[in-house]
Amino acid sequence: MEHKYVVITGSLMSGLGKGIVTSSILKLMKLYGVKSLPVKFDGYLNYDCGTMNPFRHGEVFVLEDKGEVDMDFGNYERFLNENVSSDLSITGGKLFSEIIGRERRGEYLGRDVQIIPHITDYLKERIKGIAESKKLDVLLVEVGGTVGDIENSYFIEAMRQLSLTEKVVFVNLTYIPELESVGEQKTKPTQMALRTLMQLGIQPKFIICRSQRPLESSTREKLALFSNLKPENIIDDSEIRNIYELPLKLMSQDFDRMLLKELGFEGRKIDKAQLNEWKKFVEFLGDGVRKKAKIAVVGKYVKLKDSYASVKEALTHAAYANSAEIELDWIESEDLEGKSPEQINGMLGKYNGILVPGGFGKRGIEGMINAIRFARENSKAYLGLCLGMQLMAIEYARNASSLKDANSSEFNPRAKHKIIDLMEDQRSIKLKGGTMRLGAWPVSIRKGSMAYYAYGSTKASERHRHRYEFNNRYSDALSKNGLVISGYSPDKRIVEIIEWNNRLGVGTQAHPELKSRPENPAPLFKYFIKTAVEINDRSKKA
Ligand code: GLN
Repeated sequence: MEHKYVVITGSLMSGLGKGIVTSSILKLMKLYGVKSLPVKFDGYLNYDCGTMNPFRHGEVFVLEDKGEVDMDFGNYERFLNENVSSDLSITGGKLFSEIIGRERRGEYLGRDVQIIPHITDYLKERIKGIAESKKLDVLLVEVGGTVGDIENSYFIEAMRQLSLTEKVVFVNLTYIPELESVGEQKTKPTQMALRTLMQLGIQPKFIICRSQRPLESSTREKLALFSNLKPENIIDDSEIRNIYELPLKLMSQDFDRMLLKELGFEGRKIDKAQLNEWKKFVEFLGDGVRKKAKIAVVGKYVKLKDSYASVKEALTHAAYANSAEIELDWIESEDLEGKSPEQINGMLGKYNGILVPGGFGKRGIEGMINAIRFARENSKAYLGLCLGMQLMAIEYARNASSLKDANSSEFNPRAKHKIIDLMEDQRSIKLKGGTMRLGAWPVSIRKGSMAYYAYGSTKASERHRHRYEFNNRYSDALSKNGLVISGYSPDKRIVEIIEWNNRLGVGTQAHPELKSRPENPAPLFKYFIKTAVEINDRSKKA
């Protein structure tokens, strides 16, 4: 079987949305029935993202198979509406440990091991192997970082070499600045960047341009001239209202048909039903809709929005599923510490729903507990994700069950009531990388519970990433005081879902946001938004 490749690089700076471009191309391929998957190359020497701070690197995305990967994988899965596997994530760390492993096993005996040919040959072999084993028509390769970086240079070189024997289409994403005083789109930075790319032996077939305003025809022409392309191959990526609009924006410029032609798939017909479904979602997001809910996310990494990328997207999908619009605020949990109930009311009173997402370490914990208490005592909707579920249990123990010194051993190893404690099989673990409870785990759900209502089933599976868990020794005491334990691992050892008995608040040990997609919103998020909308409606009637 012949496989084709699309390699996506980025120029000038990071943060232009290369992941969204890659995801959009994936979506287009899927719409035309061209079997595609993405590979992401990240130049850093970490083996995976599991040991990185979300403040530095954004959200750590977890796959079904336990892989802790770059947040771009979240967008790949959301656009594709499919689960992908962690062998698609190639980091500098994985790459070099593989090469050094080979060297130690004597596979290069007698040779000095070099970037060219050993690293580049290995990369070509890996990329071709993925396309072959997954029987792909097209493998998309997103090269992390910026063209000209040292970190990704050998990867770009490997892709150049790949193009000598295989069909490879290069797509470059760039930025077109505009000086306010001149009011003119400036192509010079991109001209320079293209020179760098071409020096590396890469001739892009398409140049996708981020800019503040739509591309002017003179900008297109100038860039076409400098890049040996036709003006129609210079693609406008400006003014999208939301990330999900990009596939449609690319289609409106015939990018889909030009790319399919380039790859030899020009005969493919588009799946109209799937396209309409996507369009409906994109149009909904741009609309002023009737029903509303005000949501506060109270977390410890809110200063960098990327830390909670999947939470934000899952809320969007859930809003769509409820035909509702949400007003979303991000609140730094430390700001809720040392405050009087009146002050907390002033900060949180206007919200219909409060969400506490995942997190690690002590900072900001008491602020989150204050927010949860406020939500419980004031009949707000509540959704707790992983840490948010653990703190929901601690808050309940302290304030609704008189176990005053309740805590997690993560925050206070000497607490009298360790409502949350290190998981049994974590006790002997010393290594930090890839050793949490990771990936997809099944959960058994109690009939009649909120979770049951949300999932419509007694069985579900969600992704996890944690070391601590609900301490089962407190199950009876907390249940007697009204906490509902509605989800367990099938062997009953791990408490997975807890609820307030007012049917407004639920917490899960999992990260359901990781599996939420426009075409498949996460059930607990859907339930949360539904509850928040109802609360908002009631408050308006009152
Ligand atoms: N820090 C907690 C634990 O390790 C929660 C983790 C999370 O929210 N992902 O169990």
